Amino acid sequence: MFDVIIAGCGPTGAMLAAELRLHDVRVLVLEKETEPASFVRIVGLHIRSLELMAMRGLLDRILQHGRQRPAGGFFAAIAKPAPKGLDSAYAYLLGVPQPVIEHLLAEHAIELGAQVRRGCAVTGFEQDDEGVTVELADGEQLRSRYLVGCDGGRSTVRKRLGVGFPGEPSRTDTLMGEMEVGVPQEEIAARMTEIRETHQRFWLRPFGEGVYSVVVPAAGVSDRSEPPTLEDFKQQLRAIAGTDFGVHSPRWLSRFGDATRLAERYRVGRVLLAGDAAHIHPPIGGQGLNLGVQDAFNLGWKLAAQVRGWAPEALLDTYQAERHPVAEDVLDNTRAQMELLSTEPGPQAVRRLLTELMDFDEVNHYLIEKITAIGIRYDFGEGPDLLGRRLRDIDVKQGHLYGLLHRGRGLLLDRTERLTVGGWSDRVDYLADPTAELDVSCVLLRPDGHVAWIGDDQEDLDDHLSRWFGKPAD
Ligand SMILES: Cc1cc2nc3c(=O)[nH]c(=O)nc-3n(C[C@H](O)[C@H](O)[C@H](O)COP(=O)(O)OP(=O)(O)OC[C@H]3O[C@@H](n4cnc5c(N)ncnc54)[C@H](O)[C@@H]3O)c2cc1C
Repeated sequence: MFDVIIAGCGPTGAMLAAELRLHDVRVLVLEKETEPASFVRIVGLHIRSLELMAMRGLLDRILQHGRQRPAGGFFAAIAKPAPKGLDSAYAYLLGVPQPVIEHLLAEHAIELGAQVRRGCAVTGFEQDDEGVTVELADGEQLRSRYLVGCDGGRSTVRKRLGVGFPGEPSRTDTLMGEMEVGVPQEEIAARMTEIRETHQRFWLRPFGEGVYSVVVPAAGVSDRSEPPTLEDFKQQLRAIAGTDFGVHSPRWLSRFGDATRLAERYRVGRVLLAGDAAHIHPPIGGQGLNLGVQDAFNLGWKLAAQVRGWAPEALLDTYQAERHPVAEDVLDNTRAQMELLSTEPGPQAVRRLLTELMDFDEVNHYLIEKITAIGIRYDFGEGPDLLGRRLRDIDVKQGHLYGLLHRGRGLLLDRTERLTVGGWSDRVDYLADPTAELDVSCVLLRPDGHVAWIGDDQEDLDDHLSRWFGKPAD
């Protein structure tokens, strides 16, 4: 008997497993594939995800494998510098190969005690009042108290749960692959600059060791149900660039669409959904993995609280209440970005106008905060603007605030030195620091770093500790 079974060991599943293990939850991750993905896709980790990694002490490991880029210029690929004054100690984009992130997160989860079984596809489940019986492809049955589907866009868990996945099917397909080229880099760079004035869904980027990452629209090439071929890439390169750049020796070739869908519910009884299993959208702006990892970060401590028995009545349901609107917003911004990539005259005119508007720092700032997820404010009721937002990594007397959050517990940061976490000290840490870089007296942080309370009154604080962390210990 496990406490939680997670279907899928992608970035979302691995992050969730690690978060649950911080609270000693017995976790089993079932992964369909026997081996990790072999092809390398570089993904961008945005500011909020970098902050999460810093909060769990993982950022240094990840930085070694990534390349830092300015935190600007990725909304609809409109080339603009990073906006001024982004409110984060990690105000950059980190390009990292997705298999590296998956490996590091899975390694972290295993180090913390999660079990990962590869080559085990979840095919079905039954839930009852006490738990969930999970069925594997080979007929084996396993029992757990909760099941979380982190099994990607074609999620078996979501389908078996009967949860609707409304939205739009894919309209625009894109080819993506890695291959070698037969012409010098300067020639490619010059041609690319010219073409990208009108075609944003097109690039050839050097990837190291003579290999290029190639992206071209798939319009008009071969059958969608068949894997793309090198000839498909050549045909599209010739159609747009007038040359196929002598591409050869592909490492891998793939195709992706712009289907946009959102699960109607994130929870039915003891079964929950997170990551691509709950939402899919085009990769423009590089948000999918970030969104999934942030779902896991939001869900982990709440599900752990439920398993450990201290969760207040409605805590687990705040997962959907908080994360569903965030995904809705991401879906919408990707819809808007896809329109701005169209080569039609109308969308091109809107793109030119937005390009001008982004010269206003406030506009640029707004869009980048949206994509990097640092602009999120959960609805915790009436209160100052900081309530419901994440707190940046500020300096405290013991070093950095995020360094105190590695154990995934709540934290009371008290500048008055008068308050106490009392009977909640088994779940919430306390730091008295009159010098902390804060505009308010005290903040209560949830384990995901969001501000759950601001004030200086002990009675009011106790009410909020109960709201988020349940009954105090005797
Ligand atoms: C071209 C492209 C570029 C992208 N660039 C970015 C980017 O820059 N930044 C970004 O944030 N996102 C990016 N994304 C999106 C990102 O790759 C996904 O959003 C992310 O992989 C989702 O993670 P996940 O763990 O939720 O799902 P997945 O990565 O799909 O993982 C699901 C896992 O579940 C397993 N599984 C499936 N079914 C079962 C089953 N029945 N039983 C057990 N296991 C199962 C799968 O094998 C897989 O390992 C990009 C996507 C594409 C296509």
